[in-house]
Amino acid sequence: EFIEREIEEVLGLTERREKDSELYKIANEVFDRTTKETLAYLHRRGKIESLYGVISTGKEANVFAGIDSEGNRIAVKIYRTYTTEFRRIWEYLAADPRVGYLPKDMRKLVFVWTRREYKNLKRAIKYAVRVPEPIIFRNNVLVMEFIGDELPAPRLKDVERELTKVDFEELYAFTMGVIERLWKRGDMVHGDLSEYNILIHEPPVVIDWSQATVKRNKMSVSLLRRDLRNVINYFARKGVSVDDFEEKFRELIES
Ligand code: ATP
Ligand code: MN
Repeated sequence: EFIEREIEEVLGLTERREKDSELYKIANEVFDRTTKETLAYLHRRGKIESLYGVISTGKEANVFAGIDSEGNRIAVKIYRTYTTEFRRIWEYLAADPRVGYLPKDMRKLVFVWTRREYKNLKRAIKYAVRVPEPIIFRNNVLVMEFIGDELPAPRLKDVERELTKVDFEELYAFTMGVIERLWKRGDMVHGDLSEYNILIHEPPVVIDWSQATVKRNKMSVSLLRRDLRNVINYFARKGVSVDDFEEKFRELIES
């Protein structure tokens, strides 16, 4: 059928790719009807020419490497429309004053979640935080700038063994700068800032903005506390002379 044919094109199956590749396996497992239709739409619009690799498979989303119709590399984050995280997603969205109507249907709730991540990326860029440039979203699919060269950039967690004290000091300053700029200028908090969501690139890039929210959200202060604590503890373990948590936290919430 037509959609299936288009999906084969997106996956490069019309030419060379063997049907037992990892890409094909993951796609087969997680692309439901809606996802296929969405990918076909983005393909027709030239936003996704093809997907060529799996960058990451997670509970909530899978991230693929691809190219657009002009040959630019892209990263495509595809949320599962069926997730066991429904409750958490619902709670996070319900607390966000920017989100109006909350659909009861899980699939549609995931669409709202995807749109919010896109908006968070746009907002973070406005406050000079280095994130993957969001290109387009539709339903449960978010297309963004690919961070990396040939291969996707590694996460801080993946390369920590190769880093020096000076590297950690610089990364600590970078990360604290992000937290402060977001909070003070952007009225915003990432909410899951850790060594898993910082890609080592020049300059480093903060990813995974799905749980980010605005100061007006009643959860924002506890998210800020969590980010600050995780970041300070991590870099302290790496030998950086870090800020005092309580002091920094107070300084931020009183700003
Ligand atoms: P969640 O499911 O909570 O939204 P996740 O951890 O599954 O989050 P991300 O952290 O956004 O999703 O992405 C998963 C992994 O994919 C990252 O750790 C990173 O390695 C890779 N990745 C994400 N975005 C990009 C990008 N724009 N360029 C290159 N690699 C990326
Ligand atoms: Mn992540």
